[in-house]
Amino acid sequence: MTVNHEGVWNACLKVIKDNIPLQAYKTWFEPILPIKLENHILMIQVPSHFFYEWLEEHYITLLKKVIKKELGAEGRLEYSIVMENRGKNAAPYTVKLPTSDGKSLKNPSINMPLNINERQIRNPFIIPGLKKVNVDSNLNPAYSFENFVEGDCNRLARSAGYAVANKPGGTAFNPLLIYGGVGLGKTHLAHAIGIGIKEQYPNKTVLYVGSEKFAHQFIDAIKNGSTNDFIHFYQMIDVLIIDDVQFFSGKEKTQDVFFHVFNHLHQNGKQIILTSDKPPVDMQGMEQRLLSRFKWGLSADLAAPDLETRIAILEKKMYGNGIELPKEVVEYLAYNINTNIREMEGAWTSLLAQASLNKKAITLDLAKQMIDKFVKNTAREVSIDYIQKVVCDYFDLPLEILKSKTRKREVVQARQISMYFSKKMTKSSLANIGAHCGGKDHATVLHACKTVTNLSETDKQFKIYLSDLEKKLTIQ
Ligand code: ADP
Ligand code: MG
Repeated sequence: MTVNHEGVWNACLKVIKDNIPLQAYKTWFEPILPIKLENHILMIQVPSHFFYEWLEEHYITLLKKVIKKELGAEGRLEYSIVMENRGKNAAPYTVKLPTSDGKSLKNPSINMPLNINERQIRNPFIIPGLKKVNVDSNLNPAYSFENFVEGDCNRLARSAGYAVANKPGGTAFNPLLIYGGVGLGKTHLAHAIGIGIKEQYPNKTVLYVGSEKFAHQFIDAIKNGSTNDFIHFYQMIDVLIIDDVQFFSGKEKTQDVFFHVFNHLHQNGKQIILTSDKPPVDMQGMEQRLLSRFKWGLSADLAAPDLETRIAILEKKMYGNGIELPKEVVEYLAYNINTNIREMEGAWTSLLAQASLNKKAITLDLAKQMIDKFVKNTAREVSIDYIQKVVCDYFDLPLEILKSKTRKREVVQARQISMYFSKKMTKSSLANIGAHCGGKDHATVLHACKTVTNLSETDKQFKIYLSDLEKKLTIQ
C-alpha cells in the first residue's frame, strides 16, 4: 500500500464521492490538489480562501471522518490556499491554515488537531468538587453583533439580545427565546450574545451548544452512567445558549433533564438563551412545564429581511471576506433570493467559486447563470422591486422619489417605464403594480403602459432607453 499524499487523498475522495451529491463533489472536491503528506498531516491545496471556508462550513464532519479513516486518530488536514487577485506572473503562494470548526480562522498559526471537537464532546464534564473549569464556549467569532446587520426584521430580537449581552441574568429576558425560519439569523444572534457577554464578563462561563449535541451528550451520559456529571456540568454554566430547541420535541428524557438544568440555572440568576424554528405555542411534542418556562422571559422573532437589509448583509459579508462584487451583482442576488439569508450567501459563495475556478470576471450574466444552477425553487420572475431599482439606477433617481407623488417630468417618465416593464415582465395585476408605484390605481398603470408604447414609437432616444433597460432586466 502506498502511503503518499496522492494515494491518501484519492482514498478520501472515494468515500467523499459516495457521500455527497455529484454536483457538490465536482464543485468542491475535484479542484482540490493533494500537496504533501508529512507526520500524519495531509496538505491539500484549495483555489481560494472562501473555498476553504466553504469546505470547513459544509464538509468538515465528512473530512474529519475520512482523514481519521485514512490517517488514524492523529491525522490532520492542512490547507494551502492559492491567493486570489495577484498579478498574472506571480507564482501562487500558499498559506497554511488549520482545520478546525472554522473558529480559528482569525488565528491561522495555531495547528489544531482534527479531532479536537470530538475530544470535547467525549469529555465535557467536570470532576465534581472542582470549581473553576475552562469550558470552551463554542462561540464563532464571525457571528458577532458587529457583523449582525440590524433591520426591521430583527429589531426586537437584536435589541433584547443586546440587553442580555450587557446584563446576563439581570434583565426580564430570561430565558430569551429567539425564533424564526431557517437561515434568518437565529444562530448568528445567539453567538453574538455569547460573544458580547464574554467580552464584558470574561470570567463568566458561557456555553453555546446545539440541542442535538446536548441530547447526544445526555444519551452518552446515560450509557456511561454519568448523568450526574452531565447535570453538574450544565448546572455550573453562567450563560447557557441552546440552539434549535425544537429538536427536543418528543424526546421526553432529554426534556426532563433540560427541565432540571433550566430550573437550577434560572433560580440562580443564570442566563438562558434559546433558539427555535417556531414560537412556543406551535411547538409540538414539548412538555407543558417546559413550554410555560420558555414563556417566562421574552420570545422574540426574526422575520425575513427586507431588500435593504439583504443588501447590507451581503455587503457586510463581502467586506468581512475582503471580497468585492460589482454592486449590480449584489443587488441582483439580494433581489432574487428573498427568503433565506443562508441561501443568498450560498449563491454568492458559489458565484465566487465559479469565478475563481474558471478565472472569469464576476459579472451580472455570471450571477444570473449561477442563480439558475445553484438556487432551487427560487421564483424566476423578476419582481416589481427589481424593475424599479434597475430603472432608478439607470436614470440615477432615488427609489423613494419614484414611489413618491412627485409630478416632475423625469420622475413621471421613470415611474411609467417601471410600470410598463412590471406589466410586461411580471404576473402582477395592474392594481398591484400601481400600489408599488406610489399608490396609483389600475387606470393610471394602464395609461402609463400606453404612453410608454406610444413614446417608444415616436421618440428615438426613448426607444434606446427602453431597449437598454429591457436588456438589463432580462434573465438569460
Ligand atoms: P438560522 O440559525 O436562523 O437558521 P443563521 O444564524 O445560521 O440562521 O444565519 C444564516 C446566515 O445568515 C449566517 O451566515 C448569518 O451570518 C447570516 N445572517 C442572518 N441574519 C443576519 C444579519 N442580520 N446580519 C448579518 N448576517 C446575517
Ligand atoms: Mg441555526
